[in-house]
Amino acid sequence: MNTRVYTYDSTLRDGEQCEGITLSLEDKLRIARRLDDFGIDYIEGGFPASNPKDIAFFKRMSEMPLAHAQVVAFGSTCRKGVAAAEDQGLADLLESGAPVVAIVGKTWDAQVTRALQTTLEENLRMISESVAYLKAAGRRVVFDAEHFFDGYKANPEYALACVRAASEAGADSVDLCETNGGALPFEVEEIVAAVARELPDQALGVHCHNDSGCAVANALAAVRAGATQVQGTVNGIGERVGNTDLLTVIADLELKMGRECVGPEKLRELTRVSHYVAEMCNVSVPGNHPYTGASAFAHKGGLHASAIARFREAYEHASPASVGNDTRMIVSELAGKASLVQKAAAMGIDLSDEGVDVQAILDDIKAREAVGYSYEVADGSLALLLLRALGKYEPAFSLESFRVIVDDFTYMGAAAQGAMSEATIKIHVGEKRFVATGEGTGPVGALDSALRMVLAESYPEVAGMELIDYKVRLLDESQGTDAITRVTITTADARGSWGTVGVSENVIEASWNALVDSIEYGLLRMAE
Ligand SMILES: [Zn+2]
Repeated sequence: MNTRVYTYDSTLRDGEQCEGITLSLEDKLRIARRLDDFGIDYIEGGFPASNPKDIAFFKRMSEMPLAHAQVVAFGSTCRKGVAAAEDQGLADLLESGAPVVAIVGKTWDAQVTRALQTTLEENLRMISESVAYLKAAGRRVVFDAEHFFDGYKANPEYALACVRAASEAGADSVDLCETNGGALPFEVEEIVAAVARELPDQALGVHCHNDSGCAVANALAAVRAGATQVQGTVNGIGERVGNTDLLTVIADLELKMGRECVGPEKLRELTRVSHYVAEMCNVSVPGNHPYTGASAFAHKGGLHASAIARFREAYEHASPASVGNDTRMIVSELAGKASLVQKAAAMGIDLSDEGVDVQAILDDIKAREAVGYSYEVADGSLALLLLRALGKYEPAFSLESFRVIVDDFTYMGAAAQGAMSEATIKIHVGEKRFVATGEGTGPVGALDSALRMVLAESYPEVAGMELIDYKVRLLDESQGTDAITRVTITTADARGSWGTVGVSENVIEASWNALVDSIEYGLLRMAE
């Protein structure tokens, strides 16, 4: 038996439907690169037909191809009464330049007649013609069979006729979608097995939602019945209660079912990937999240502690090291000396020298993490921290003080702007002292403009840096407005982007710290 199961990530498309999560273009590009590095096979980028951000995503992807993964553009079959070759949606999919296209089509008879309001025959034509058209254009085609499990329960002959139409038209993978998330594992296993019997030579995949709490179990059941591709999202994010957690599926398949997805070496990055994507989405991985949560392998001290030391396997379902987690509550990427040295080397910073006290740096990082810093996505701040520790960093400027005033002009009438901010900074650049005032709609924008105004004279290259994303997170929400605030900023120049972080009880101070790191690291990059 071929043990390979292909992984298909839908975080950037279905995952982004999750309430409370929005991803900027730059976030999506960074997540795609991280998932590529992790060994995900297919990365669904979005709908190139509907959304300018997604169109830009595919354009950027075609300019900067991934190393392993293939990018997937998502859309639907041609519309009723329209030939595939005349369909604007299909044209947009091809226009995206993505090597793989996924098209969703209906397979539940009642959906066809009632929601789509067309005939069962016309729906078969739409499926068959759309798949054939995209295949003829040289794309790898995934057919997403919408509502397949409900459709099969209602009318198995018609549901099968739909996937047969896609298969005969040349679909590379027919992915059965458990769209409403209500099916249970024994049903999924039975139905996937029936499709596998009907279409023995067709590669099958599965796409599940977690409404019955069974998305991961349903995906595993589908694999047992013959599916060789699993769709899901990182940490299971998605609309309503979410999608299949692709990371949990990968760990289960690799560690418990003898199937291969990313391989044992990459599997050790599982926890980091989980936390990286959560940070990009500005959420936390729940402590009790399978495999990757901070408590996933943590034991309450006392009762079991000595027993665990004697017979670890009795208290752990899997080895925490196999997924890059730890029995203690450390989930940082920088959990050990060796990984810090390695991470630093990847940023061009050498910590391997005898005289470098790596343990002291690590202790400093851990102390900072304990008060709220997170370096998972703040590579710029981490690099500055390391260089400062090595005594190899001369800051480009130093702050004497800053002050921000926020004025509300709404009383001036509907035509007037709302709140406006004004920031005054006093800083030293070399021997010179500068006082500058900047304006912005928000306090951070005002500080940013004041800082750039001063630096433009000595460092004209700051003009090439753009603040492209700003995220704020309250770390202890029970404290309300007194909570510790973590600000993460993403800045870009012509060569790429970097993240920086600031932490304070005061949101403006946290923002200022992240902003200063972003400019300092940007200048450092440009000097290299
Ligand atoms: Zn879905």
